[in-house]
Amino acid sequence: MKSVTEISGVPKEDLSSIPASAHPTAEGPAEVAANIKYHAQYTPHFSPLKFEPEQAFYATADSVRDSLIQRWNETYLHFHRENPKQTYYLSMEYLQGRALTNAIGNLGITDAYAAALNKLGHDLENIVEQEPDAALGNGGLGRLASCFLDSMATLNLPAWGYGLRYRYGLFKQSITEKGQQESAENWLEKFSPWEIVRHDVVYPVRFYGKVEVCASGVHKWVDGEQLQALAYDVPIPGYGTNNTISLRLWEAKAPAEDFNLNEFNDGQYENAAHLHSKAQQICAVLYPGDAKEEGKLLRLKQQFFLCSASLQDIIARFKERRVENEPIAWNEFPSKVAVQMNDTHPTLSIPELMRILMDDECLGWDEAWTVTTRTIAYTNHTVLPEALEKWSVALLTKLLPRHMEIIAEINKRFLEMIHSSHPDMENKFNNMCILDDSNPQKPVVRMANLCVVSSHTVNGVAMLHSNILKDELFRDYVSLWPEKFQNKTNGITPRRWLRFCNPELSAIITKWLKTDQWVTNLDLLRGLRQFSDNSELQSEWASAKMANKIRLAQYIFQVTGVKVNPNSLFDIQIKRIHEYKRQLLNILGAIYRYKRLKEMSAEERKKVVPRTIMIGGKAFATYTQAKRIVKLVNDVGAVVNNDPAIGDLLKVVFIPNYNVSVAEILIPGSELSQHISTAGMEASGTSNMKFALNGCLIIGTLDGANVEIREEIGKDNFFLFGAEAHDVPKLRKEREQGLFVPDPRFEEAKNFVKSRAFGDYDYTPLLDSLEGNSGYGRGDYFLVGYDFPSYMEAQSRVDNAYKDTKKWMKMSILSTAGSGKFSSDRTISEYAKAIWKIQECRVP
Ligand SMILES: *Cc1c(COP(=O)(O)O)cnc(C)c1O
Repeated sequence: MKSVTEISGVPKEDLSSIPASAHPTAEGPAEVAANIKYHAQYTPHFSPLKFEPEQAFYATADSVRDSLIQRWNETYLHFHRENPKQTYYLSMEYLQGRALTNAIGNLGITDAYAAALNKLGHDLENIVEQEPDAALGNGGLGRLASCFLDSMATLNLPAWGYGLRYRYGLFKQSITEKGQQESAENWLEKFSPWEIVRHDVVYPVRFYGKVEVCASGVHKWVDGEQLQALAYDVPIPGYGTNNTISLRLWEAKAPAEDFNLNEFNDGQYENAAHLHSKAQQICAVLYPGDAKEEGKLLRLKQQFFLCSASLQDIIARFKERRVENEPIAWNEFPSKVAVQMNDTHPTLSIPELMRILMDDECLGWDEAWTVTTRTIAYTNHTVLPEALEKWSVALLTKLLPRHMEIIAEINKRFLEMIHSSHPDMENKFNNMCILDDSNPQKPVVRMANLCVVSSHTVNGVAMLHSNILKDELFRDYVSLWPEKFQNKTNGITPRRWLRFCNPELSAIITKWLKTDQWVTNLDLLRGLRQFSDNSELQSEWASAKMANKIRLAQYIFQVTGVKVNPNSLFDIQIKRIHEYKRQLLNILGAIYRYKRLKEMSAEERKKVVPRTIMIGGKAFATYTQAKRIVKLVNDVGAVVNNDPAIGDLLKVVFIPNYNVSVAEILIPGSELSQHISTAGMEASGTSNMKFALNGCLIIGTLDGANVEIREEIGKDNFFLFGAEAHDVPKLRKEREQGLFVPDPRFEEAKNFVKSRAFGDYDYTPLLDSLEGNSGYGRGDYFLVGYDFPSYMEAQSRVDNAYKDTKKWMKMSILSTAGSGKFSSDRTISEYAKAIWKIQECRVP
């Protein structure tokens, strides 16, 4: 960060002259330094004598936390007094990344902290890097939830997030000769300075047991095993506002009385703490492997744990905020509470809310159903059949017997409604029913169908995706309830993804727009368009990019030992490794490029644009094919990067352990990024938005939000290739019929791998996935072969455009200028208005 390096020239004061005194609302550097020192001494986590970067980080974070807590308390009190309608965002994942830069940036105290740390003999940039990433999520869906929280706080909306406090986040990835290795991500190894344990917020959560029917006809879920949900609150500050909202994360614990002291004294240590160890399993890891039945059970427990604890909490707050002594008016619940389910993972909120209303609060079915369906809304994130959640009726009956009863009743009543009101649709019932017993041995509950039937609003996450939902996946429901379906194109927070991760470019934007209002009104970026040809802006733009490329090159050297040339074209694809995202298309393209380069004369090579291709991402531990792709990228890199004949003309680098902090270094230094999924398969994508916002050009298919990005930044500024979504089924069919003729360049690339040019590892199963018409190879289901020639042609257009620096700079400026729409502030305003019906509630 520039501000930091500038300050580091200031002579350091004698450390002992800085008092250790508490200043919870410190603003100036002297008070901030005193407050940091106070925390190092009086809330120490280490020997108070130590003040190395790590200790300095924790003391700094504790000091920032003081400011956060004050605002967070004020916000809570204000919401409590005003009692507005409030949104609760339920998500099994939050990909928060680091919090320090974001917190001081949003509070507007970055310069004070940089100066204070300088007085204390430290450098803010270095202190920031001490913080482990909070990776309580996998990828886009979790990062979206985190961007949304930032926007909710910034827009002063009465809204909270709920999630689980996983002990270990998404695994840490390292690369060896064997390929990807996973190890536990111990983000809580020391502790997290950002969470507040709420010993006053504890709810019981039941599993197993049975259903009793009382004389009154009321059902009661009894017995089984009871754990407790304990709240940890993470304050989320808005940018330039006092509003600081909560991300409430639940941790499972066993009630103290469940510790059997007699057994323990008898030496039966494991039995004594049986329930304690069961409780620990629930929040141990994000996505436990679910190949086995035990793993499935644990995952279902996690989902219910989130839903049950959150709903009890929401209801408790609803009761607390009502006018004293007035009876509870449940019909007012939906005008005080909006629940948003981030994908189907929190679907059990539906039967849990029904159960609480009917069994605990004694509402009748119809009344409970009205309340539930007016409260809950559902966001769909995928149309991939294998990603649509299904839970076995047997498992649900065992773990959640009352909820299974309620789900069956919802299904029955839905069937009856179709039968009586829409008899013409009875033939659609197989498609629409919630309980799928097409395999009578193993009936399942289709969670997406339960969500559609029970929510007042269903939304997709980009225009193309929402249209596919309406025209295909949920087509039959649309004819029943056309007004239920909406689109909410995803967005990203411009604070983390431009203002803080790219201060160089931010300063240039502020200078040319003569305002920094774009940070909260991203549409203002449009104002850059008029300067896109201006050579002064272009040269400033180019030097910011170069500074970020140099920083990135240093990072790459540090984590991989590969030296890359900052003058080469930096080409990046970072995202979860998945066949539909087609990292395989990228690497086969790189292989073909390498082969061509090797065959060229020295004269021909002089005309080549040097390229550094970077690929990063984690492959799910049990996803073998994805792990082979990781291995191939690394094997190709090992050969290409050490080929003296090629030198800087081509480098292929695998960036290990991709996460939010890594993205924050890579994206500002990128010039070209790849968003090349098979059309129709990526619901939205959000990294495409992050790249475009940072002036990076996109090579991509007409998929997800790419479609809208291309519209916004202009067709000429987007390297388009590939089949369109509506052609995909036809192309797959042609393939099945053996009508597909592969391009010779595609065959050449594959054969080069087969020739063992990249080592002895057996890539047959990976390459076979691109062959055949069906069966094992699935006949190249993801259309890598079909799209290969048009991909290579788009890559040639990239090289040609890059040769013309002025043209490239103009395209880059226009990318940033056209990214205004993709602010999560815009997305969240749309949710607030059209789905949640909530209004701003600003803390004075
Ligand atoms: C933005 C982001 C994603 C989502 O990337 P896509 O390319 O849209 O799939 C995944 N992981 C991290 C760490 C991110 O920051």
